[in-house]
Amino acid sequence: MASDPMLSMDGVSVEFTDDGGVLDLFGDSETVRAVNDVSLELGEEETLTLIGESGCGKSTLGKTAIGAQKPTSGTVSYRGQDIWEARNDSKNASIPFDEIRHSLQIIHQDPGSALNPNQRILTSLQLPLKKWYPELGREEREERIHTLFERVGMSPPSDYLNRYPHQLSGGETQRAVLVRALLLNPDLILADEAISALDVSLRVEMMDLMLELQDLFQTSYLFISHDLSNARYIAEKSGGRIAVMYLGEIVEIGTVEEIVENPQHPYTKALQWATANLYEDEDDEEFPLRKIDVPDPTNLPSGCSFHPRCPNAREVCKRQHPGRIHAGGDEENYARCFRADDTHEYWHSPEIADEPPVDSP
Ligand code: SF4
Repeated sequence: MASDPMLSMDGVSVEFTDDGGVLDLFGDSETVRAVNDVSLELGEEETLTLIGESGCGKSTLGKTAIGAQKPTSGTVSYRGQDIWEARNDSKNASIPFDEIRHSLQIIHQDPGSALNPNQRILTSLQLPLKKWYPELGREEREERIHTLFERVGMSPPSDYLNRYPHQLSGGETQRAVLVRALLLNPDLILADEAISALDVSLRVEMMDLMLELQDLFQTSYLFISHDLSNARYIAEKSGGRIAVMYLGEIVEIGTVEEIVENPQHPYTKALQWATANLYEDEDDEEFPLRKIDVPDPTNLPSGCSFHPRCPNAREVCKRQHPGRIHAGGDEENYARCFRADDTHEYWHSPEIADEPPVDSP
């Protein structure tokens, strides 16, 4: 990344321990490593899409990036300021925690959760403005809200602003929540499956709108999606990157050309296979996984955590954990797979013969 990153994560891991509570008579607490050794940088007006199966740690990583989840180890910094140091000691921070908080916003999959069901939309949107911009009078606040509603195609604004959340459609609610985030002029918006609940036709409309507003507000996006076709659309239109997550790790990251057109990691290839119509030219019908089931996250496999499912796994994959291996192209493009390294001992290691590939489901 040429200039200093707006947001950086360095060696971030997040663990959750279920101690079984008072009924844990046998002391058999379990620890889930939801995020494992993730290092990432996000620049100004950059778009990064995180993709992976449900439960792979995407949301936890997203929340950690905006300071809503404390990492168990590693650091998360906003413009060079460690977010958690600022939170614990705001007086000595180069950027006060309050400023960090309002610079890093979130839009959830369920937009309704961001709006009080008992308040009119206008009231819900005025609250953050009152909190973060107390110098604004009522008229100025309303003018900002009306202008943005016009901008997102909710016109005339008063028709929508006087309603309660349940009186808006899913697409209208999502736009209202987007306006709520943009009113604070954030540097980053975490869109956590923000378009997943919308009809397919509305998804494209919403993605286009968000990218249009990105230019206007000069904001970065961290999109979270389980759908590679959405990730491809966003990354192609924004010139952004795609990061593929598996069991808490980023196993591959790169541009659309690198991830979608020329994936290196077998898991990325499996996601590609599972995405209908993404590769019309593909005639490879072979199911690209040895096992369908995801391993137990409280008891991760040895070596490469993908090896029990990987169709290319060899004996070495059972005992060695792959680091970040440059996968060609952009210098930030890497894959956590030995196959990306032509000289790795993987190429001389015996194939795993005991678990034959499963049939296509
Ligand atoms: S390191 Fe081995 S098991 Fe892991 S993804 Fe690569 S080939 Fe598969």
